Amino acid sequence: MDHTSAREPMAWPFYKESASREQSAPARHVPRRTTLPGVRSVPVTELPGVGPRIAAALKDLGIISVADLVSHYPSRHEDLSNVKRISDLRVGERVTVVGRVVSVKKVGRPVRGRTPGLSVQLYDGTGYMPVTVWGRGWLLNQLIPDTWVVVSGEVQSRYGLQLAARNLEVIDDPATVGDNAHAGRFVPVYPVNKGINARRMRTLVHRALEVSGRILDPLPANVLASYGLPNLHDAIHEVHFPDDRERLRAATRRLVFHELFLIQTGLAARKARLEKTEYGRSHKGDGRLLNPFLNGLPFGLTGAQERVIGEVLEGMRSEKPMRRLLQGDVGSGKTVVAVAALLSAVEAGGQGAIMAPTEVLAEQHFISISAALKDLPVNVVLITGSQNLTERREALEAVKSGEAQIVVGTHALIQKGVEFRDLSLVVVDEQHRFGVGQRAIFKEKGATPDTLVMTATPIPRTLSLTLYGDLEVSLLDELPPGRKPVETRMVELPERDEAYEAVRAKLEAGRQAYVICPLVEESEALEDVRAAEELYEELSGVIFPERRVGLLHGRMKTAEKREVMAAFRARKIEVLVATVVVEVGVDVTNASAIVVEGAERFGLSQLHQLRGRVCRGHHPPKCFLVGDPKTEDSLKRFEALVEHQDGFKLSEVDLAIRGEGTLFGSRQSGMPDLKVAKLLRDIDILVEARRAAFELVATDSTLKNPEHRPLRREVRELLGADIEWLFKE
Ligand code: ADP
Ligand code: MG
Repeated sequence: MDHTSAREPMAWPFYKESASREQSAPARHVPRRTTLPGVRSVPVTELPGVGPRIAAALKDLGIISVADLVSHYPSRHEDLSNVKRISDLRVGERVTVVGRVVSVKKVGRPVRGRTPGLSVQLYDGTGYMPVTVWGRGWLLNQLIPDTWVVVSGEVQSRYGLQLAARNLEVIDDPATVGDNAHAGRFVPVYPVNKGINARRMRTLVHRALEVSGRILDPLPANVLASYGLPNLHDAIHEVHFPDDRERLRAATRRLVFHELFLIQTGLAARKARLEKTEYGRSHKGDGRLLNPFLNGLPFGLTGAQERVIGEVLEGMRSEKPMRRLLQGDVGSGKTVVAVAALLSAVEAGGQGAIMAPTEVLAEQHFISISAALKDLPVNVVLITGSQNLTERREALEAVKSGEAQIVVGTHALIQKGVEFRDLSLVVVDEQHRFGVGQRAIFKEKGATPDTLVMTATPIPRTLSLTLYGDLEVSLLDELPPGRKPVETRMVELPERDEAYEAVRAKLEAGRQAYVICPLVEESEALEDVRAAEELYEELSGVIFPERRVGLLHGRMKTAEKREVMAAFRARKIEVLVATVVVEVGVDVTNASAIVVEGAERFGLSQLHQLRGRVCRGHHPPKCFLVGDPKTEDSLKRFEALVEHQDGFKLSEVDLAIRGEGTLFGSRQSGMPDLKVAKLLRDIDILVEARRAAFELVATDSTLKNPEHRPLRREVRELLGADIEWLFKE
């Protein structure tokens, strides 16, 4: 055991350095130097003591290879390192004592022939001490007098001092107490399952570390030196069996850095690769469209809009392809930025496309963009999946000939058959609904179009750095003036009527309202449609029989949807019952109340988006979250919404509630799950890892230097085949 050789010998009268530190049975397969990907090919069954039953239990935990065991990190450590002499013990202390068995007897009533507990008399050269330990009755026959044991527990006073032990281990030699995986040290506590107990897991990890031999470090030595990081071998050993808290901390930091550094290296390599192989379009607009558009707006731009438009136009002027993420909370005015960019593309003689995640939203963009540009010589067309054939053919023709300068659409835009004459800018609205991978689909022959990805789902900055590590980020961090905070209430079912009474008051004052159906499936299954129809019946027939109520759901035909939205905009519909199709972007300023039914079934960011539908008008808006928050988490979500309006704050709360592990598992991100790093906790390390990775890739973009080969291997291993092409010359 390498890592313990640095340990100071225990200051004990009878403890000597022992010549033999071999504690566990020697493994069959012992490579001397390994890499983690290397031991991935060694199955756990190579380890002594792992038969089919244990192997199956490990498999349930996702552990198949020795490498998996080595990187099955403990969830916490128990500090059993406070080793004391019996003569020094004080009541109430939690200690570890090493001594010899003097005598032993059973305690407690046997259950099914098994003795539940033992009372052991212990002697350590400084004194005698009675020890009770439960759940270790099976050790009775091993505890013959003079056997060495190490026990940990609390010192209690009962007819003199005694130790209530939580753990008792038989050891061969007191000098090796620090080598024992289970006692006299910081003892790791692992995530386990039914088939495998904590002790066994500890033993297995201990063996796996031995089998792995010396683990080679794929990170370049100068990176370790600049960031003051221990090498990988030491870090892995210390994370499992740390010598003290300080080393545990350093080791954890190293592993977090390691994980983030590998991801960032992949991103940096991708960025370098794209910049090398692609050339973009330099948009040199002359302002002939942009200026009249901006001057004609019925409002002044916010400072943030001005800054971001500047950033976007500058990116478009550059010859490099622009890849920019625009983050702006619900209602921050992203559409204006998008239109400015689209006009700039048109001025430079290109075509601009804007994609929205739903037809409703594409339709709305089409209407509002056409209206905003009605006095300008710009041709805007709409393409959606459900247009009739003639409409669609005409639109496609116009896109192909270049007659259509701005093209608005849904995913249908990226399907085959849409041919552009000269696509030079793509705007993707509400990015969180798309997979990141779809950005690439627009890549055709010739210059790479500039890309502007807009998202209202506020991703904390740290996350966006990681998720979109190869994108520039622009931030719309200011809402237009006059935005009202949305008064948000949690409404339990018995009070549902009160919520609708409050809505009634709004309607009487001439406002409009949304009622959102409890729906979680984006697919809009038939049952959901039926539920929407039922809610519609209830609202139009029972709750608001005197009002004009409309229904909007994803299964309706485009023409129907269009009609309903137009009627709602024209205030012919006063209450719109809708499924989540209105979640994103729908903008009707006279709507100032929203009721979300079954709100516990929605995610936090979805609820925030929904609430954003009513924050834009001139009237104090209200939001009612009707539901039964059954779980702790849904209650926390509700409380967060009642308390906060700021989307960035909310997304941090969301992250904290959901835990971060799953974020990267989402198919959207294309990124591996994080095993050790926690983004909110580890922001500083992320920033360092990112800087280090980008610096490294700047000097060797394909990691072809011999000293970078091990790194290249691990990045590939982690990010998978998707990034294979990155490393081709
Ligand atoms: P989002 O960022 O959610 O897409 P939109 O672009 O839809 O926001 O804008 C929301 C509303 O705010 C729209 O009605 C838009 O006309 C209005 N708006 C945008 N910018 C401003 C501004 N600077 N001042 C006032 N209203 C604005
Ligand atoms: Mg929008």
